[in-house]
Amino acid sequence: MPARPLDRIVGAVCLAALIVTSTAAGVRSTEAGADAAALASYDDAVVVLADARTDADLASAELDDTRADAANAADAAAAALDVVDPELLDDTATVEALEAARDELATADEVIDGYLAETASDPDDDLGAAPDTRDEHASAAVRLIVRAGVLDTAAGTMRDFDASLASLTVAVETATRELAASAHAHGTATDAPELAGDEATDAYTAAVEALYGVAASDLAPALTAYQDAWADAVSAHEAAEEEAARAAAEASAPPPAANTSDGVQPTYIRGILVVNKTYGLPSWYGNGLTAETVNAFERMRAEAAASGLDLYISSGFRSYATQASIYNRYVANEGVAAADRHSARPGHSEHQTGLTIDLNTITTAFGYTAEGRWVAANAHRFGFIVRYPEHKEAVTGYVWEPWHLRYLGVGVAGDVYASGLTLEEYLGITSAYQ
Ligand SMILES: [Zn+2]
Repeated sequence: MPARPLDRIVGAVCLAALIVTSTAAGVRSTEAGADAAALASYDDAVVVLADARTDADLASAELDDTRADAANAADAAAAALDVVDPELLDDTATVEALEAARDELATADEVIDGYLAETASDPDDDLGAAPDTRDEHASAAVRLIVRAGVLDTAAGTMRDFDASLASLTVAVETATRELAASAHAHGTATDAPELAGDEATDAYTAAVEALYGVAASDLAPALTAYQDAWADAVSAHEAAEEEAARAAAEASAPPPAANTSDGVQPTYIRGILVVNKTYGLPSWYGNGLTAETVNAFERMRAEAAASGLDLYISSGFRSYATQASIYNRYVANEGVAAADRHSARPGHSEHQTGLTIDLNTITTAFGYTAEGRWVAANAHRFGFIVRYPEHKEAVTGYVWEPWHLRYLGVGVAGDVYASGLTLEEYLGITSAYQ
């Protein structure tokens, strides 16, 4: 960039002004001397104007480049705003921040447009023919210097625009990247829905990963892919839920004589004693927790205690008669439908098997305690499963009971835990009173 010609402008203006003033005042040097001075000031003014014009052209070209960058950033932002789904963002304020930054950039660009239109209508920069006389030289020099000053001011103004436009462009690009970061944070925060399946889950994870460090110009397609992957995962999850519900409804296991215990025999499926709303126990069955259940609980309690957690059995074996009394009390208080959601009818309680224990406080709050979370993640290592998981009432027949554990042995419990299924789903059976 050439040096700002301000010093030369000031010098030349002073010289030209001196000549004009001298002429007006009638102060005369020799004719030849005055002619030479006027000519020199005119020649200087021509050079100053040429320099100012070069500098203004340069500032204008720089501003054009910056405006092109700004337009690209605005396009990428508009594309991202077009496809983004606020539902899928960790923080919806990122959308507003991007909209605000983009609007500010657009306003600045309009202001620049207006300024350029105005300055373009300035008088012609044509130097015209070289003046003939000394006086004409002097006044032409003043005119050229004034014009150089206008161009110099214009160059300064364009550079100011350039700087503010560049910083607004950076703001838009930053806000666009924050939009991607917000989508990414959402992805890691929620994961795919639990029943989405491997394929949809992997695709969603990949779409979330793709938002990392994406160029602003590629953000819109990346957000679209992310949004599509989420929709696919949700559809897969819903389809799996419907399938499970239909399978449960259609399964046609022979109905045992569920509500009377006489003649009922314990049901073993793949070696596992099954007790739920479909499968019952005779009234004579059971006489306390089995030794293996007690031993397994004791090992689990000891390991939890080593981590500072306190586990205790609040309810273990229940006889048919005890369960009848408990269930009938619930029915008296809240009716059959409500009681059936959390309490088993006599002959259908897992507690009668001697393989089931309730831990600590019998409320869903237990699921959120350190003990409850530890049990959910570790009980299978000791042979237990959380028998009635959250959101599985349609399958198990019972609301979420984070405290209710069923002993299956380490091998089967580990398999069921790893499968992510309820025992009903794992065995392909129903749980419904006939
Ligand atoms: Zn229980």
